[in-house]
Amino acid sequence: MNGNYTFTMIKPCAVKAGFTGRILADILEGGFDIVAMKFTRMTREQAETFYSVHQGKPFFESLVDFMSSGPIVAAIVSKENAVADFRTLIGATNPENAAEGTIRRKYAESLQRNAVHGSDSDENATLEASHFFSGFERFQGYR
Ligand code: ADP
Ligand code: MG
Repeated sequence: MNGNYTFTMIKPCAVKAGFTGRILADILEGGFDIVAMKFTRMTREQAETFYSVHQGKPFFESLVDFMSSGPIVAAIVSKENAVADFRTLIGATNPENAAEGTIRRKYAESLQRNAVHGSDSDENATLEASHFFSGFERFQGYR
């Protein structure tokens, strides 16, 4: 993948709260196209792998418990400058600091239960997408 893709998850809190449709609408209205998408659930081990960069931090165990607690929507989305523009669309990690109108500001419950994930670099977008999607599950340039 190059700079035109990023990886996202609608986290268990937002799926449980019924925000899936509204969050997907915000992503599409934000100018992103869906390249791949699935409704799935991470095992605890998969969540540990996904968030391994945070291993050892005080919030790691509860983050892994939370992220494996229920179904998520995982997706690859595409747009020019996808990683940075998607982080702008979702807002700051802590929803209290997230700009008005951002997805986290609108749908987050707390710092941990902050509604959505967005990759922080092209390299991590590629790695994270590869955890969830094979080549045959990716559809580009259909619009
Ligand atoms: P982001 O998701 O914005 O890239 P980080 O990579 O720093 O943020 O953290 C990953 C996830 O871990 C956050 O989205 C949030 O769910 C959780 N998290 C981060 N910091 C904390 C914290 N201090 N306490 C509880 N959960 C946290
Ligand atoms: Mg991060």
